[in-house]
Amino acid sequence: MFFGPPGAGKGTQARLFAKKFNIPHLSTGDILRSKINDKDDLANKLKEILASGKLVSDEILNEIVSDKIIKDCKNGFILDGYPRTIVQSNFLNNLLKVEKLNLDFIFNIDLDFEILEKRIIKRSQEESRDDDNIDVLKTRYKEYTSSSKIVSDFYNLNNSNIFHKIDGSEEISEITSKIENIIKNS
Ligand code: AMP
Repeated sequence: MFFGPPGAGKGTQARLFAKKFNIPHLSTGDILRSKINDKDDLANKLKEILASGKLVSDEILNEIVSDKIIKDCKNGFILDGYPRTIVQSNFLNNLLKVEKLNLDFIFNIDLDFEILEKRIIKRSQEESRDDDNIDVLKTRYKEYTSSSKIVSDFYNLNNSNIFHKIDGSEEISEITSKIENIIKNS
């Protein structure tokens, strides 16, 4: 499970480790962005919410994740961007219990807002995401501090043996090797 503010690099690391271990990468942001292409009512609603930087409803997220976990994740999975609310984390904990699955590692990649700002401006030039601009970043960061951060603090408190704090200001390769070492030495 990867936590971190928008732009901290959790998606990059999650993608990399999913490939390395050949397990599904459940990026809820990617899944929602791909749903926008459906061009139905839900897609229009999602497009608006994502462009605003606000969070999508727990019902939609829980359904997306439970579907994937039940179907594709018996040999492992990487969660990137979920859970982001206490409702989602309670739902996930129940689901894992029912499916007899465990969390092995939680990585919390942290980074100061000033560095995030610079990264998001750079990413907006490279990836043209609707939500990569400074105004929306401020909303996404606020959602992070008021909701997702509370969820990661909760896991830090209750799963401290598998919770690892990572400094997101380091080079991508440095962060990758730190995570590799944690996995190797566990
Ligand atoms: P991300 O790519 O993880 O930064 O997610 C992009 C956007 O998708 C977020 O700003 C939210 O609008 C939405 N989103 C992704 N994951 C979740 C989640 N777990 N709960 C609610 N909204 C989410």
